[in-house]
Amino acid sequence: MKNIKDYDLPQLKEEMKKLGQKPFRAEQIFQWLYRDKVSSFDEMTNLSLELRELLKQNYTMNEFKIIKKQEASDGTKKYLFDVLDGNAIETVLMSYHHGFTICVTTQIGCKMGCKFCASTGIPFIRNLSSGEIVEQLLAVERDTGVRISNVVFMGIGEPLDNYENVINAIRIINNPKGIEIGARHISISTSGLVPQIYRLADENIQCTLSISLHATNNKKRSEMMPVNNAYPIEELIQACKDYIAKTNRRVSFEYALAKENNDNLEDAKELVKLLRGMNCHVNLIPINKIENGKYTKSSIENIMKFRDYLNNHGIVATIRRELGSDIDAACGQLRRKSLVDKSS
Ligand code: SAH
Repeated sequence: MKNIKDYDLPQLKEEMKKLGQKPFRAEQIFQWLYRDKVSSFDEMTNLSLELRELLKQNYTMNEFKIIKKQEASDGTKKYLFDVLDGNAIETVLMSYHHGFTICVTTQIGCKMGCKFCASTGIPFIRNLSSGEIVEQLLAVERDTGVRISNVVFMGIGEPLDNYENVINAIRIINNPKGIEIGARHISISTSGLVPQIYRLADENIQCTLSISLHATNNKKRSEMMPVNNAYPIEELIQACKDYIAKTNRRVSFEYALAKENNDNLEDAKELVKLLRGMNCHVNLIPINKIENGKYTKSSIENIMKFRDYLNNHGIVATIRRELGSDIDAACGQLRRKSLVDKSS
């Protein structure tokens, strides 16, 4: 059966046509799903009983089950969801002064192999569908009763390696007839898949693009991130410049500082050279050490010095507030889990 949440409104209209229904039925269903956030077709009371039956025969609502929920001392919540095929994924809800942000997972596992990330080293299983990405938001809202205002594609997986489903999920989340989270409140983070960055520039979506840069020269970046062998820094930066020119949007760079690896003044100087003149913002993240990982956190004094150097040389940089690290919900701490995984 098909997941009813895999469709943005225009696609749902096509689906309804196939079932011999009028397109406005799609609008009604879309509103029940994303405005009223109902859990069953039976609750869609402005549809006839026959249509509700027809929907039940053809589609699932695919609501995730919560396997585990943890709450950090700072209020961050981490969910382990049963995605109903024997796999489990993690999703994080963070509370900021400007509202609630959800960090969604896009793939079951990840192929990128970044050396500092806990998602690495466990085999990749599959992409999540659009509906499975959207369902993370709905499931968390159902559980907490909060209204989520920001979405970051920074959970497990490489969003641009699951391009179509991620873009479609953004269109669903953004649709004014449904959840209606503004594109400017949605961020996609990528390890740097250059062709997809060009593709994204043509989508005409006003979301924020975040680039996981983490190093300023190819030798260091390739050591940390194998994807750099395929798309070296020069190509990545050029793609970002072209993205900015085309979209008029500011790009974010994420830079996770690891002690004595990429946190020296020399690195800061190289970073200034690399980004000078670009409409961008640098997010500095204290790297989180993973089990058996060789990278350890840079000291906060060092990170502040790094930030000050950037700011004093014309690059806007801030230090990302760390949330949820006591429940392994911070950057790079999420892992693919299976229902039989004893560590979950
Ligand atoms: N694959 C995408 C999105 C998922 S990771 C990407 O690479 O951007 C989200 C962010 O967390 C990325 O910037 C990633 O580089 C960063 N990250 C991964 N492991 C980390 C760690 N151990 N400490 C700090 N940040 C980490």
